[in-house]
Amino acid sequence: MPVPLWASGHTGHDGHEEAVGIARAFAGNPSLVVADEPVSALDVSVAAAVTGLLMDIQRQYRTTLLFISHDLSLVRYLADRVVVMYLGNIVEQGTTDDVFAPPYHPYTEALLSAVPIADTSIEKKRIILEGVLPSVVNPPKGCPFNTRCPRKIGDICETEKPPEIEASPGHTIACHIPLADLEAVEPVIVQVDKDGSTPPPEPARENAAE
Ligand code: SF4
Repeated sequence: MPVPLWASGHTGHDGHEEAVGIARAFAGNPSLVVADEPVSALDVSVAAAVTGLLMDIQRQYRTTLLFISHDLSLVRYLADRVVVMYLGNIVEQGTTDDVFAPPYHPYTEALLSAVPIADTSIEKKRIILEGVLPSVVNPPKGCPFNTRCPRKIGDICETEKPPEIEASPGHTIACHIPLADLEAVEPVIVQVDKDGSTPPPEPARENAAE
C-alpha cells in the first residue's frame, strides 16, 4: 500500500520532523513512497541533508519513490524519470536526460529557464510566462497551456487537444508544434567555457541520481 510523505508546512526548522517522517514512511518496507514537496519548507542546507537521507534510505530499501516538486534542480538530481504536468495534464514525460534537453514542451522550456543557477560557467535563457494561470476546474479548450504559451502557433492550439508526439522511445511531448521545430529549439541551459565558447554536450548520464 502506498505510504504518503508530505511536507510539514513549517518554515525555518531543522528538518527533524521530515527526517522522522522519512524513517516512518520507509519503516514498513513499502513498495511505493509518495514524497509531496518534502523539503520545500526547509532552509537550503537542511533540505540538502534531508534529501540525502531520503535518497540513502530509498537506495537501501530499493523502494519506488514518487517525488512531487516544483524544484527542478532537485528533480534533476533525484529522478530517473520525469513527468511534467500543467493544470493536471501530462505535457511531457521521459527520462531525466530527455526532459532536461531539447526537444522540450514549451512549458518545460519555461520551467527550466526559471531554475536558479549560481555557476558562472552556465548561461541560461529567461522565459517569462505572461497571462493568468487558468482555473484547474475550468481549463482552456484545446491545449491547456494555450493562454500562456510563448510558442503558440495559432487557433489550433485553442480548439484541438495536442497530439502526443514521441520524440524518442519513452519520451513524449503533447504539442501541435512539429517535432522538427521542437528539436530546432536552442537549449535553455548551456555550459560556456571561460573563453566564451560552448563545449560539446556531455554524454548521457547513466544514473540520474549521480
Ligand atoms: S499546443 Fe500550442 S499552445 Fe500548446 S504548448 Fe504547443 S504550441 Fe503551445
